[in-house]
Amino acid sequence: MPLPASKTAPVNPEQINAIHAEYREALCGAAPGLRERLDHGTMLPISGLMAVADRYRAVILDAFGVLYSAGAAVPGATETITELRRAGLALRVLTNNASHSPQQLAQRFAQLGFDLQPEEIITSGGAVYSAAGLAILGDDPYLYLGRPDSVTHYAPHATERMVNHPESTLPWSQAATILICSDSAFYGTDLQPRLEALLSTRSRPLIVANPDLVSPSSKGGLKRVAGMTAHLLHQHYGGELIYLGKPFAPVFQQCLESLPGIEPQQMLMVGDTIETDILGSIHMGMESCLVHQGIHADRSLEALETLCRSQGIHPNWVTTTIRS
Ligand SMILES: [Mg+2]
Repeated sequence: MPLPASKTAPVNPEQINAIHAEYREALCGAAPGLRERLDHGTMLPISGLMAVADRYRAVILDAFGVLYSAGAAVPGATETITELRRAGLALRVLTNNASHSPQQLAQRFAQLGFDLQPEEIITSGGAVYSAAGLAILGDDPYLYLGRPDSVTHYAPHATERMVNHPESTLPWSQAATILICSDSAFYGTDLQPRLEALLSTRSRPLIVANPDLVSPSSKGGLKRVAGMTAHLLHQHYGGELIYLGKPFAPVFQQCLESLPGIEPQQMLMVGDTIETDILGSIHMGMESCLVHQGIHADRSLEALETLCRSQGIHPNWVTTTIRS
């Protein structure tokens, strides 16, 4: 049975909760003691990041919902970046974006008034090039699901190994895996029926750079994004799901490697999504701050804390805004 042909098909909140629980259980199942550490966070309220900045050597910020939202910088976010930098902290943006390169994202950030360099932006697409990502992809041909203008950034050895590269002579049937970076050029295109026909002959591992399930749509409500499309493909056609982006380790590992000499416990991850930013950072041994904006902006602070408890994922700090 084919997938719906539109990105904006209704999203089922129970399905989202169930997949997020799978993410948590996958990490807890492989990391002894993680469940206890997830319970440990004190969720102390703070008034902005500068209130705790002197405890850390690096601050790692999620992008959407923390630095910008609805096409504009979050009020006070550009100044906070400047203040953190002035205080001597190393900065990274850690995003599940696998649609745009760090260079493209740095340009966007500059347009929004942020002083951020491409080297400071770690993307889940870039995690394809982590040791784990390259090992998972192996040396076999693969099919790339993503934006055509990101092929040069996120599709390794594209001209030789990407079966759907314009210059490729490989038959699609040789694709050993499906690399899923973005679904923005999938629904309603020729690629959708061809990929589904391919998977209906034989399931293949689905390597998911961006595990995010939904994001706010510019038309209101939520729209599916790459992680949900991967899950739907898995439901319809089988194949192991292998994740690279938050909350999973490969993209966090890249972030750690970009900060040599700084231990995970000296890093503060700042995010608005409990099930990716906070879960993944606790898994890696970082401290964490949940920002009450972005994806949970419409909940009260009390409701957000209740949600943390019900998920069994407790950050160290909670703040309504990153600006002090
Ligand atoms: Mg976010």
